[in-house]
Amino acid sequence: MDNSAVEFVIGKQKNIALIAHDNKKGEIIEWCKQHEDILKKHFLFGTGTTARMVAEHTGLPVRGFNSGPLGGDLQIGARIVDNKIDIVIFFSDPLTAQPHDPDVKALLRIAQVYDIPIANNKATADFIITSSFMDREYTHQLINFKKTVEERAVRLDESID
Ligand code: PGA
Repeated sequence: MDNSAVEFVIGKQKNIALIAHDNKKGEIIEWCKQHEDILKKHFLFGTGTTARMVAEHTGLPVRGFNSGPLGGDLQIGARIVDNKIDIVIFFSDPLTAQPHDPDVKALLRIAQVYDIPIANNKATADFIITSSFMDREYTHQLINFKKTVEERAVRLDESID
């Protein structure tokens, strides 16, 4: 039996992470207002400042992590690994250098590894939020990480002997 992949199910109610760089905070607030009826059916999280501003301006409950430059993006990445974030809406600023660029890269990479829908502009966010999958479960295949660890440990043990 090929067990190199395992099936994961993204539930009907999604855990959505919201992140916006400073020049994009207004844009994400407007986007959340525009899609409030959909967003209120799901669980919202965000980097510290984004979460606070979205909650204040929309009334939607948003659980905040640390601010992005202080590790918030990495906290969201860690929750993707733990299967606790299903979608990332990330209004990033392509025209301004960010001190935490390595963290942003890490988040993008881990979302790719775990096959998580991630929008980094408004059009992609619009497509995701209006997808029919927002109202139902979505099943996808992920690498069997347990098997990968077992195989690596055996292979590296052999090279030590
Ligand atoms: P912030 O972080 O929501 O705390 O501003 C966002 C970011 O810059 O990654």
